[in-house]
Amino acid sequence: MLPLSLHSNRVASTFIRSHVIRNRIWTRRAHLRTLTTLAIETSCDDTSVAILSSSEQDGTQVHFHEKITANNDAYNGIHPLVALHSHRANLAPLIEKALKQCPSQIDFISATRGPGMRSNLAVGLDTAKGLALGLNIPFLGVHHMQAHALTPRLVLAMNAPPSSVDDVVQPAFPFLTVLVSGGHTMLIDSAGLTDHSILAETCDIALGDCLDKAARAILPRDLLQAPYGKALEDFAFPQAPLDYDYTAPTRRKEELEYRQTRWYWGLKPVFADSKGGMKTSRRMAYSFAGLLSAVERLLLRKTAPDGHLTDEQRKQEEISVDERRDLAREIQRVAFEHLASRVLLHLSSMSSVPSINTMVVSGGVASNQYLRHIMRSMLDARGYTHIKLEFPPVELCTDNALMIAWTGLEMWRAGYRSDLDIEPIRKWSMDPKAEDGGILGVGGWRHDGQS
Ligand code: AMP
Ligand code: ZN
Repeated sequence: MLPLSLHSNRVASTFIRSHVIRNRIWTRRAHLRTLTTLAIETSCDDTSVAILSSSEQDGTQVHFHEKITANNDAYNGIHPLVALHSHRANLAPLIEKALKQCPSQIDFISATRGPGMRSNLAVGLDTAKGLALGLNIPFLGVHHMQAHALTPRLVLAMNAPPSSVDDVVQPAFPFLTVLVSGGHTMLIDSAGLTDHSILAETCDIALGDCLDKAARAILPRDLLQAPYGKALEDFAFPQAPLDYDYTAPTRRKEELEYRQTRWYWGLKPVFADSKGGMKTSRRMAYSFAGLLSAVERLLLRKTAPDGHLTDEQRKQEEISVDERRDLAREIQRVAFEHLASRVLLHLSSMSSVPSINTMVVSGGVASNQYLRHIMRSMLDARGYTHIKLEFPPVELCTDNALMIAWTGLEMWRAGYRSDLDIEPIRKWSMDPKAEDGGILGVGGWRHDGQS
């Protein structure tokens, strides 16, 4: 039965609320007046509302940003009905609160159109249509993944110094994005506002999912608390080290080498012994399910080799905290090296295409300090010291309405609006070469040449 008493976690993004940041990011013509949007995000388990405006005088200004996350602690993942109930209960009160804090006139409403859970998206999209009709203003359906990809542009716009006279939004296209969350693992080539090619994505589970499940298997019970990925990091490195005692592989061959630990086990690099050898190991894809089951198998073998241990034997076989800690470190090392390896494969294959100077690493897992260290070390070890790594603050890495507002503003400035009859989209690519035609391929767009 669906529990009706939801204890929602209120995550007030105070660090950005009432935070006036000036910048000059839009083209001269677009600076002419302030543009304000109210944005809604309901694609998964976060109900979020933001009001964002931009103008030449005041730069990028956040008037309101809050989110409420459905409590799914009782479930092994997100329960769609619990999330749906949370959206229905929390969205309208959040909008009411936002409108009370909005100092200026709202020009249009933005809402996530997809991809995501259809009925959850519908709560936000239908509310957005109602608001737009009630206020007699247009509305714009936003692609959720495009919004994740554009988040670094939002962050840099927010942080740009008041004296900045740069007319181009930074980071300028093209740039690379690695999106690592509980549901996604993607390497994206962002070539333009609506042109985001997926270079690699997971063929089984997401990196966040893998780390969450590994934490449940490895961590002593009393240390297991959400977010599990963070618990795994804290267990592996109780004191965040300045030096991780980590040496990045300097050649592709080294990446595929098996490293045995002092406990006589090791975790094989992903794709290292896939049929087809080197060729298959160069697949532009991610995979974390095999790594997770290797860890689970290792723990199972250690705790009950044949399932018939006496209590005394079980005690002897019990894995020490030190060994568990090494396992926590190793699964992260292997997973993060795999993540970085596809970036290196892509960079080494692009001799003739424009060079990349910026790579954004975003999503909940991007807050992991070991991941950041490994990504930087591997880029440096292969001669990509010039590539700047950007890590948006965690509050903006995870699902939020501010990124929807920003994408709404960017799309609006480019002349796009949505028809009132658009529907939520469960699966929606952002790649123009995909079967559905990507962001603009799905229809329901109107282009206003007067923007
Ligand atoms: P998201 O799906 O973007 O909301 O991110 C949630 C995912 O990020 C979950 O799988 C978390 O366990 C994971 N996560 C959060 N913090 C960390 C961390 N410090 N290290 C690794 N994973 C993390
Ligand atoms: Zn998301």
